[in-house]
Amino acid sequence: MPRQPLPEEIEIELGLDEATDPEALRQKIGKKLGVAPSKLPEPSVLRRSIDARRGSVHFHLIVGLGVPQESLGGAPPREPSGTGLPVVVVGDGPAGLFCAYELARHAIPVVVLDRGKPVQPRRHDLKGLHQRGQVDPDSNYCFGEGGAGTYSDGKLYTRAHKRGSVRDVIELLALHGAPETILVDARPHIGSNRLPKVVTALREKLEGVGVRFEFGARVVGLLQQPGRITGVRLADGRELAARAVVLATGHSARDVFGFLAQAGVPLEAKAFALGVRIEHPQPLINRIQYGRFADHPKLPNASYRVAETVEGRGVFSFCMCPGGFVVPASTEPGELVVNGMSLSRRDSPYANSGLVVGIEAEDVEQAGFSGVLGGIELQRRIEQAAFAASSGALSAPATRVTDFLAGKGSSTLPESSYIPGLTPTDIAPILDSAGLKLAARLRQALGAFDKKLRGYQSEEAVLIGVESRTSSPVRVPRDPQTLEAPGFAGLYPTGEGAGYAGGIVSAALDGQRVARAIAGLGS
Ligand SMILES: Cc1cc2nc3c(=O)[nH]c(=O)nc-3n(C[C@H](O)[C@H](O)[C@H](O)COP(=O)(O)OP(=O)(O)OC[C@H]3O[C@@H](n4cnc5c(N)ncnc54)[C@H](O)[C@@H]3O)c2cc1C
Repeated sequence: MPRQPLPEEIEIELGLDEATDPEALRQKIGKKLGVAPSKLPEPSVLRRSIDARRGSVHFHLIVGLGVPQESLGGAPPREPSGTGLPVVVVGDGPAGLFCAYELARHAIPVVVLDRGKPVQPRRHDLKGLHQRGQVDPDSNYCFGEGGAGTYSDGKLYTRAHKRGSVRDVIELLALHGAPETILVDARPHIGSNRLPKVVTALREKLEGVGVRFEFGARVVGLLQQPGRITGVRLADGRELAARAVVLATGHSARDVFGFLAQAGVPLEAKAFALGVRIEHPQPLINRIQYGRFADHPKLPNASYRVAETVEGRGVFSFCMCPGGFVVPASTEPGELVVNGMSLSRRDSPYANSGLVVGIEAEDVEQAGFSGVLGGIELQRRIEQAAFAASSGALSAPATRVTDFLAGKGSSTLPESSYIPGLTPTDIAPILDSAGLKLAARLRQALGAFDKKLRGYQSEEAVLIGVESRTSSPVRVPRDPQTLEAPGFAGLYPTGEGAGYAGGIVSAALDGQRVARAIAGLGS
């Protein structure tokens, strides 16, 4: 009887103590397929995930058989062909950087402007935030080379698969120094100790083909002729002419929304989310998720994801960082904003996650803010309330989960990863300072989350305020075909700030998409 051809891919489950070397894999595959291991082509792991459902924990692999090794990163960037005005990309976050890379793949001349500093000097300003509570409005966790992505956690999963090639983005990151595990992990992660090197390597590659990067270059206005954007105006008074302007300024560049509104560029209010960062001891989350396997040396620190609808609004975990740190993400003095990140080893003793409530346009109005920029005012109100409750130097107001559920403040707090320190207080009035029922919704949701993750409502868990920069409260509409702002030819809003992305990969994909539209390849 003719032998069945071998499949190109095969799914394999591995126990935590089973060997993962190629020879052990070959044995396992041979057994599953009923083929002598020596007759199998070279196995290569294409996808790896952890399955911790139904009381057992194991690795789930998709293994390719004889898959040819391909080179990473697709078409390389090229020197510009011909002369002419450059495309000016404003913002060097993932959207701007990947837009510039894609433009250079098409040999289009590019200048990238960013208000912040390059990676290395930016690090000193982050130290100032942590150690002295000093906020530089141009150089912080959101602004500077690589944007909010550089010192972010570096989780790379996205649901934006229809918007471009996620694989291309992941390969480019791997090609420029991210660990190759991101090519196979179902939940890829880089870590904020490695991201700066990746961002620098991408910039150096682009500089090598003539892309110009300028830091400390804050754009304060647009140059325009009727119906057309022709360049940008910088804070130092310079004007730069451009064949097209890509606006990739992120969700925290509130001044940019201001000058867009003044120039008459259409803006729309958009739903966003507000809340707190919750921090638990990591061993507690490991016990909840892995049960009796919690201490197994092969298992990474566990993550979780929870969501619940409470009185018509989503309450959900956001940007969960196992083995991570809570960080001060304020971009202006007088406001207190927190976020989360982790190093590549994800080995701090704490697990943190955003825990946020969806905010709709009617909530913004109910809070007394009107107009398309009302959402920003709402964010600001709550961030300022958090700052006012701080005991100083960006010490963050915080309440134990158990006290929060009992409707009172805390007088003591557990240890935390947040370097500026925590101020024990009652976080509920801060959350409710805009007149919305955020605290009540969070309380109800915490009850539901504890049913899914038994022990989540621990006395050792603490709510830290406030998590207000989950996404942009504003969208800059664009023509669905050309991706330009309607009525403003040559202006291409992109990335998270413009409302087209919610993370590193989706921002990168959107930047690439805009570049292809500029190159005349359609969107
Ligand atoms: C602490 C932290 C952790 C995060 N963790 C993750 C994660 O694990 N996974 C994930 O997918 N996402 C994460 N994010 C979110 C992610 O970083 C953003 O979604 C992403 O960076 C958005 O990309 P962007 O290019 O649209 O904008 P940004 O990254 O915000 O970049 C905007 C850039 O524009 C520049 N800019 C702003 N205004 C001007 C101006 N007027 N002139 C010139 N330049 C200007 C800024 O300096 C900045 O560099 C995290 C964010 C933070 C802060």
